Amino acid sequence: MTEKPIYDCIIIGAGPGGLQAAIYLGRFNRRVLVIDRGAGRTTHARHIENYLAQKGISGTDIIRIGMEQARSFGVDVIKGEVVSVLKDKDIFTVSTATDTYAGRYIVVSTGGKENIPEIENIHKFFARTVVTCIDCDGYHFTGRKTVVIGNSIKSADLAMGMREMYSKDMTLILCTDKLPPDYKEELKDEGIRLVIGRPKRFHGADAGEAVEMEDGTMIPCEMVMSHFGFKLNDQFLSGLNLKKESDGRTYQVNRDFESSLRGLYIVGPLCGHDQVVIAAGEGAIAALDIKKQLLEM
Ligand SMILES: Cc1cc2nc3c(=O)[nH]c(=O)nc-3n(C[C@H](O)[C@H](O)[C@H](O)COP(=O)(O)OP(=O)(O)OC[C@H]3O[C@@H](n4cnc5c(N)ncnc54)[C@H](O)[C@@H]3O)c2cc1C
Repeated sequence: MTEKPIYDCIIIGAGPGGLQAAIYLGRFNRRVLVIDRGAGRTTHARHIENYLAQKGISGTDIIRIGMEQARSFGVDVIKGEVVSVLKDKDIFTVSTATDTYAGRYIVVSTGGKENIPEIENIHKFFARTVVTCIDCDGYHFTGRKTVVIGNSIKSADLAMGMREMYSKDMTLILCTDKLPPDYKEELKDEGIRLVIGRPKRFHGADAGEAVEMEDGTMIPCEMVMSHFGFKLNDQFLSGLNLKKESDGRTYQVNRDFESSLRGLYIVGPLCGHDQVVIAAGEGAIAALDIKKQLLEM
């Protein structure tokens, strides 16, 4: 029987953050393992236009090409879902349901999972005319009949920001009536229609045409911004007692993206930013620091 190797670095999650770290560490001739369960958020992005030197590339292509690139530098990639990470002395043990792997350093780049409201037909239009991120897709709303759907004051802020940057034809649907009166006044002054109630169904043959409310009202629209946030994929970190930021959600990291546990790095949405180019940059920074630490060992 051959003994399992101790990897220099185990990367959990093959999104832009994890793959970029893998490419750097592979090119430092380090022994690297990527464990990924597939179908991450990047693969939902159909048309990424804000990544330098890419006029338009799908998230699926970024991941496919990144995976090929990492493998070409000797990185091992396996499909699996990590269920726990533990540290004993200087070695981490990473477990999936069926296996365990040992590594000296860890990069966690597991991103998040969209909170998708229960509205009929949402999956038909999701990532096309129903989107979730102003920085990613706000530009596609330019000059178009827009609906923002949410349930908080932040959704009202989002509608005002989108009105300023992209579209004057704006309706805000709030599922709960939590808005203070001065906010309602401000929306009115900005020319934003406010509807309180629950959306029932999206209408449209191919492109979006209208949102039907539970009371039967039809709100015409071409583009919808669904504002319900996303959950972080971080359950497997619960045994490590890592320090979090004051928001109680994202993780504390230093300037090299090392967490409060030495040797464990966290990049991407788990430490606050939700953009492909940023996750990739953070992955590169983490990999450079791991290279340095490995040389000092
Ligand atoms: C519809 C949509 C459009 C977007 N458009 C843009 C855009 O135009 N421009 C832009 O910059 N950003 C865009 N984004 C945001 C972008 O997708 C994220 O910023 C990016 O995914 C973050 O990269 P990541 O590497 O942290 O995570 P992800 O791409 O989410 O990758 C994480 C990976 O980890 C895996 N994983 C999770 N948990 C585990 C586990 N326990 N074990 C093993 N693997 C695990 C997942 O399966 C996934 O493959 C968009 C997002 C969405 C949803």
